[in-house]
This record gives sequence, C-alpha cells and structure tokens, in this order.
Amino acid sequence: MRNLFVCLLLLATIYAKTEAAVLVKDKRWPAASQLNVVFIDGNPKLWQLVETVAPEWVENSSLSFRFFRGWHTAPQQTHIRVSFQSHNGSVLGNHHDFTSKQPTLVLSLLPQLLGDDAAARRLILHEFGHALGFEHEFLSPVWPYGRGSLQAVIEQCVKQMKALQPDSKQALQDCQRLNQPLAKDKVLHTVFDEFSIMNYPLTIQLGQGRTKRIKASSKLSFLDRYAISRWYGKANH
Ligand SMILES: [Zn+2]
Repeated sequence: MRNLFVCLLLLATIYAKTEAAVLVKDKRWPAASQLNVVFIDGNPKLWQLVETVAPEWVENSSLSFRFFRGWHTAPQQTHIRVSFQSHNGSVLGNHHDFTSKQPTLVLSLLPQLLGDDAAARRLILHEFGHALGFEHEFLSPVWPYGRGSLQAVIEQCVKQMKALQPDSKQALQDCQRLNQPLAKDKVLHTVFDEFSIMNYPLTIQLGQGRTKRIKASSKLSFLDRYAISRWYGKANH
C-alpha cells in the first residue's frame, strides 16, 4: 500500500484553537543518517525558508539534512522529497523508498504564508517532525484527555480527506485509522508535552464548564529537542 500521508494540516488548523514527543520506532531513520532533501517544485524563496527552518530539528542530533534544488542536482537516492502543490502533509519517517520521484512531504500552504513567520515556521517544523518519525502528540499512549477530546480532530480530518478521497465512508475510516492511539510498545515517548510542535491547536472540554486550551506552537519545545537528541543520538557534526 502507498505510504499514507499522516498529516492533513490546512490553514484552518493552523489558526484554529489545538498542541510531547512520540517517535514511531519502526519509522526511525538510522542514527547519523544524512537525509537528502530534494525540492521537486517551488521557487528559491520557498526553498530558502525550508533550508533555514527545517534544520532546527536536527541541529542537536546525529542526523543532518542535505538540500537539493531540483532533480538535476539531486543524487539517485533521496529521502525527503518536497513539493509545494496539492495538500499539506508528510509520510511518516523512514519509508524505505529512496528512488521514487513521488513527493513525501507537501507544503502547499507555504506560498500563502510567506510574510507570516510564525505560521510558516509551524507548518515546516510540524511536517518535518513527521518526516523524522514523530507522530501527533494526541496519539501518545499517555495523552491525558481521552479519545472523546479528539472528535474535532476526526471531523477536521474527514473534511480535508474528502479532497483526496471522494468516498465519504472511506474518508471517515481513513481518518479513524490515522487517529488511532499508538500502542505503547510501538513508540518511544516522553510525558505528554502540550508545548510540542507535534500538537494541533485544540480546545478540550474538561467538564463542569472547564476547558483546556492547547495552542499552536511555532517553535520546537524543550522536549522536542530532548527527544531528537535522545532517540537519534547527539550531534557529532
Ligand atoms: Zn501533523
């Protein structure tokens, strides 16, 4: 089966009102990997922004990114293939398909976000988090707010999925599958981190009129930085 894009993050989600580190073990890249990132389309302004922001993820880890502007400059094996067309999302982590020409990470909103530094940074850092194997914080085995708190996430997902999957029953099933909590033995995780870049902005009803608001972050949290160093090894470059 084709690798399913894990994140369908539209503008509404970025500005909406949702927010640990959860790394899926079998999607982890080998330590000390140099990940070749190729831009399939786009323009120098977009490329430069991604080249500036995305490396924040790996600066304190054994991983590194090497960027290539277009296929003509790229080596035969590429690990993250970036497009700025269609939707927004990323294949999760190591997909083992290094010779395909298909995108693995799509940032179609980025052209509209030029000039909105926080939103642009959020989109790039969130999707590159997926590309490094990190899942949404609300899928953590230690998510503290229960499954009922994710109804809004599923509904939003279905709306966006319909653009890719016209069969609405299938869209709902895909969204329920994408938003299944992860089993403890399949992931490495920290405590729940409401400041992680891998959260969605969410307003959660806690009962008795109380709510918990998780905000949309535009920077890596302390635990995001801890997790990448801890699980991929510290920088040796
Ligand atoms: Zn996502």
